[in-house]
Amino acid sequence: MAQAQKITPRAQDFSEWYNDVIMQAELADYSPVRGCMVIRPPGYQLWELMQRALDDMFKATGHENAYFPLFIPQSFLAKEAEHVEGFAKEVALVTHTRLKATGKTGADAIIVDPDSKLEEPLVVRPTSETIIYAMFAKWIQSYRDLPLLLNQWCNVVRWELRTRMFLRTTEFLWQEGHTAHATETEAETEARKMLGVYRKFQEEWMAMPVITGVKTESEKFAGALRTFAVEALMQDNKALQAGTSHNLGQNFAKAFNVQYQTQSGGLEHVWNTSWGVSTRMIGGLIMTHSDDNGFVCPPRLAPVQVVIVPIWKSAEEQQLVLQTATRVRDELAKAGMRVKLDAREELKPGAKYFEWEAKGVPLRLEIGPRDVAAGQVMAARRTGGKAPTKLEDIGARAAAALQDVQNGLLHAARERRETRSIRGVTKAQFLEFMNGGGGFAYGGFCGSGACEAEVKHATAATIRVLPDPEFRSPEAPRTCMWCGKPSVAEAVWAQAY
Ligand SMILES: [Zn+2]
Repeated sequence: MAQAQKITPRAQDFSEWYNDVIMQAELADYSPVRGCMVIRPPGYQLWELMQRALDDMFKATGHENAYFPLFIPQSFLAKEAEHVEGFAKEVALVTHTRLKATGKTGADAIIVDPDSKLEEPLVVRPTSETIIYAMFAKWIQSYRDLPLLLNQWCNVVRWELRTRMFLRTTEFLWQEGHTAHATETEAETEARKMLGVYRKFQEEWMAMPVITGVKTESEKFAGALRTFAVEALMQDNKALQAGTSHNLGQNFAKAFNVQYQTQSGGLEHVWNTSWGVSTRMIGGLIMTHSDDNGFVCPPRLAPVQVVIVPIWKSAEEQQLVLQTATRVRDELAKAGMRVKLDAREELKPGAKYFEWEAKGVPLRLEIGPRDVAAGQVMAARRTGGKAPTKLEDIGARAAAALQDVQNGLLHAARERRETRSIRGVTKAQFLEFMNGGGGFAYGGFCGSGACEAEVKHATAATIRVLPDPEFRSPEAPRTCMWCGKPSVAEAVWAQAY
């Protein structure tokens, strides 16, 4: 009981609840470095499972992994004008390479050695377009070298003042895909394809429904021609940008002189794309599914999918239930499930239930002496519901229950999003909606950045995407929901993380 009470209810304080869920599930912890977090083993296992699934999908679409330096010469960042403007205010710089001892004690014992000043400072990568395209310039000579399809798994640093675990930290883990193509059409197809990969992963693995679309000029990536995004709606009705994919056009190719000889002998600049998702997705997963008892993890990504809790009073019963529990564990493991048998003697079953609930384990099997006698286990789902299940074919039964939980989570999240989506809004409705809790507001947009800025100022809502056809309203809006001028596209507004 004590453990569950440590989690602040969502209705009371969503942001406190979010931190409590993370701490109780031991996904991450605060670090001695301001703005940086420590990812603890359960959180890292979750990240590894995400990585594995995404990495398989990247490779299945023809990409190879590579690794580029953490440091980028400062001058590289300056080569693409929009790019430098977008990142200038949040970079960490390396200016010196040595410390020296002063002979004093305490904080003054070492100082920066002034003699070690670098001629050109190095930027700790906030993203790697510049260093990667500098290498592309060396590797790409002819049309035969295209397309070049790379991905990098790494950490990046963006100096953040207001941080939040997983959602916004100064250092975070991510992948960045970088590709070069012969034509604009190929680059556009690639950027679109990878957006589709992100959507598939987020819906089928994370059980997190997303809407897809293109960002407006003011929200696009610094240096991109077009930015596409996947956007999800969290339980507090704020949007989370869960991934982006950019058609970079020839902007970087021109800045870094990435040219190729065409089939007819001419010289052309390549067309680039870049695309990324990060540990931010873990924050999205938490805020999509978790409840007041703690973390809820979709089975496909749960580090522990099934926990078995044996229940006994006497030593005789202990032997009996452990025998059956071990057999069940082995059977589930053989069927490919990530399963744990919690046979700790110092904890009562009830305490174990709370612990595994807070840790988000999707399925708990309880086995007591009476269950053994009846040839059954009690199967309790993290998402609710407890029922006896036959020991016979337990592997298939558990697998079916996990699949059911996975489907149920996606369905519930989609329902929740739809009840917090409003279409064809007028200005008055929009203001009421944003002041009354928010969500996804669909309405006409005149295309003007000034209008976007006014809306942001008035409500803190931004255009998340101009949605793809699949997500658009049956009837296209005729006027801008804010200024009343003719609409150029339907937009989805929301307050966002
Ligand atoms: Zn307008």
